[in-house]
Amino acid sequence: MSNTIIVKDIKDIPSDTLIVCAPWTSPLIMPDNVRAICSHCGRVVQHRPHVAAKLVKICTDCAAPLVLHDIAEGKCEMVVTRESERELSDMIKKERQ
Ligand SMILES: [Zn+2]
Repeated sequence: MSNTIIVKDIKDIPSDTLIVCAPWTSPLIMPDNVRAICSHCGRVVQHRPHVAAKLVKICTDCAAPLVLHDIAEGKCEMVVTRESERELSDMIKKERQ
Protein backbone atom coordinates (compact mmCIF):
# COMPACT_ATOMS: atom_id res chain seq x y z
CA MET A 1 0.00 0.00 0.00
CA SER A 2 1.10 3.55 -0.56
CA ASN A 3 0.10 6.97 0.73
CA THR A 4 -2.83 8.40 -1.18
CA ILE A 5 -5.09 11.41 -1.38
CA ILE A 6 -8.57 10.69 -2.68
CA VAL A 7 -11.74 12.70 -3.21
CA LYS A 8 -14.99 11.23 -1.89
CA ASP A 9 -18.60 12.22 -1.34
CA ILE A 10 -19.38 12.76 2.33
CA LYS A 11 -21.86 9.87 2.29
CA ASP A 12 -19.04 7.49 1.25
CA ILE A 13 -16.71 8.37 4.14
CA PRO A 14 -16.78 5.76 6.95
CA SER A 15 -17.95 7.06 10.34
CA ASP A 16 -14.63 6.14 12.02
CA THR A 17 -12.69 8.50 9.75
CA LEU A 18 -10.69 11.19 11.54
CA ILE A 19 -11.31 14.75 10.40
CA VAL A 20 -8.26 16.90 11.06
CA CYS A 21 -9.46 20.29 12.32
CA ALA A 22 -7.65 23.58 12.87
CA PRO A 23 -7.61 25.09 16.34
CA TRP A 24 -10.33 27.62 17.14
CA THR A 25 -9.20 31.11 16.12
CA SER A 26 -10.62 34.61 16.21
CA PRO A 27 -11.38 35.48 13.52
CA LEU A 28 -12.19 32.03 12.17
CA ILE A 29 -10.18 30.71 9.24
CA MET A 30 -13.40 30.73 7.18
CA PRO A 31 -16.22 32.94 8.53
CA ASP A 32 -18.82 30.17 8.43
CA ASN A 33 -16.68 27.52 10.14
CA VAL A 34 -18.32 25.71 13.02
CA ARG A 35 -17.08 24.67 16.45
CA ALA A 36 -16.20 21.17 17.58
CA ILE A 37 -14.15 19.46 20.25
CA CYS A 38 -11.04 17.37 19.54
CA SER A 39 -11.94 13.77 20.40
CA HIS A 40 -8.43 13.14 21.74
CA CYS A 41 -7.51 16.19 23.87
CA GLY A 42 -10.74 18.19 24.24
CA ARG A 43 -9.36 21.29 22.56
CA VAL A 44 -11.86 23.53 20.77
CA VAL A 45 -11.43 23.28 17.00
CA GLN A 46 -13.12 24.54 13.84
CA HIS A 47 -14.22 22.84 10.66
CA ARG A 48 -16.31 23.47 7.57
CA PRO A 49 -20.08 23.35 8.08
CA HIS A 50 -20.55 20.51 5.60
CA VAL A 51 -18.46 18.05 7.65
CA ALA A 52 -20.71 15.19 8.69
CA ALA A 53 -21.56 15.12 12.39
CA LYS A 54 -20.82 11.36 12.51
CA LEU A 55 -17.10 11.85 11.77
CA VAL A 56 -14.45 11.95 14.51
CA LYS A 57 -12.92 15.42 14.88
CA ILE A 58 -9.26 15.65 15.90
CA CYS A 59 -7.00 18.71 16.22
CA THR A 60 -3.86 19.16 14.15
CA ASP A 61 -1.59 18.60 17.18
CA CYS A 62 -3.18 15.23 17.97
CA ALA A 63 -3.37 14.22 14.30
CA ALA A 64 0.25 15.00 13.41
CA PRO A 65 1.91 11.97 15.06
CA LEU A 66 -0.80 9.64 13.73
CA VAL A 67 -0.50 10.99 10.19
CA LEU A 68 3.32 10.95 10.27
CA HIS A 69 3.26 7.34 11.49
CA ASP A 70 0.89 6.27 8.72
CA ILE A 71 2.95 8.14 6.10
CA ALA A 72 6.13 6.40 7.29
CA GLU A 73 4.32 3.06 7.03
CA GLY A 74 3.07 3.96 3.56
CA LYS A 75 -0.54 3.49 4.59
CA CYS A 76 -1.81 7.05 4.91
CA GLU A 77 -5.09 7.65 3.11
CA MET A 78 -6.13 11.29 3.16
CA VAL A 79 -9.67 12.03 2.07
CA VAL A 80 -10.87 15.33 0.69
CA THR A 81 -14.60 15.81 0.29
CA ARG A 82 -15.98 17.03 -3.01
CA GLU A 83 -17.26 20.09 -1.15
CA SER A 84 -13.79 20.90 0.20
CA GLU A 85 -12.26 20.30 -3.22
CA ARG A 86 -14.74 22.77 -4.73
CA GLU A 87 -14.10 25.40 -2.02
CA LEU A 88 -10.34 25.10 -2.41
CA SER A 89 -10.61 25.37 -6.18
CA ASP A 90 -12.79 28.51 -5.86
CA MET A 91 -10.32 30.08 -3.38
CA ILE A 92 -7.40 29.44 -5.73
CA LYS A 93 -9.30 30.94 -8.67
CA LYS A 94 -10.14 34.09 -6.64
CA GLU A 95 -6.52 34.52 -5.54
CA ARG A 96 -5.32 34.30 -9.15
CA GLN A 97 -7.71 37.05 -10.34
ZN1 LIG B 1 -6.37 17.30 20.10
